[in-house]
Amino acid sequence: MTRKKIIAANWKMNNMTAETAAFFGAIGDSCKGLNDREVIVTPSFPYLAQAAALAKGRGITIAAQDFHPEENGAFTGEVSLAMLTDLGVRTVLIGHSERRHVMGETHEHIRKKVAFAQKKGFRVIFCIGETLAQRQKGELFAVIDHQLSTAFDGNLTCPPDDMVIAYEPVWAIGTGVNATGAQAQEMHDYIRHFMDKQYGRKDIVILYGGSVKPDNVKELMLMPDIDGALVGGASLKAESFSKLIFWDK
Ligand code: PEP
Repeated sequence: MTRKKIIAANWKMNNMTAETAAFFGAIGDSCKGLNDREVIVTPSFPYLAQAAALAKGRGITIAAQDFHPEENGAFTGEVSLAMLTDLGVRTVLIGHSERRHVMGETHEHIRKKVAFAQKKGFRVIFCIGETLAQRQKGELFAVIDHQLSTAFDGNLTCPPDDMVIAYEPVWAIGTGVNATGAQAQEMHDYIRHFMDKQYGRKDIVILYGGSVKPDNVKELMLMPDIDGALVGGASLKAESFSKLIFWDK
């Protein structure tokens, strides 16, 4: 099976109305008709509708950075999957390092989100990664095992294309220090074997994230088990994001 290539932008708490319009204006129709890779953009909630309208017919998928795993109700400040469906969004990030480490999301909350998204037929980009201290203590693979096991809890029921993993070492996110191609490949290979053994998902799409930039993207993308990238800083402007989308052109 050929694994789908994905280049995804995580805008985090950046890009407002003017920047969103400028981004899509500059990207134009460059992604229209692309069939060897998928381009995804995740704006923050207030700009989802604007981005969805601007992306329409341009070969760019709009995804959400977060959601709350309940149908609706008294959850002030939260956004439901039904609301995302209403906007035409069906892809969500779960487990991003900033949600785990800055917002304090627990393994249990993440497990609930993964289960809820699967139940509602959403596609998930599930983020995992170790801190520098964990890597230095040699806990690297144990941390990844734990994040994968607790999230799926023996319950990975969605169609193959609806679960994408993003390996994002915490020490590489927003630091300018990326994992080398060899470091990322070692972990992607490990994740692929883990997902095959535990869940029979050898062909799961695995993205790398962490300071991907135009000058390091090629080394990473040429690795056999790296299927694409999840990108923060270098995705905010169309000029640098385009270089990542078309890294091989
Ligand atoms: C991210 O937030 O997922 C990310 C990888 O950020 P950056 O590319 O800025 O390191």
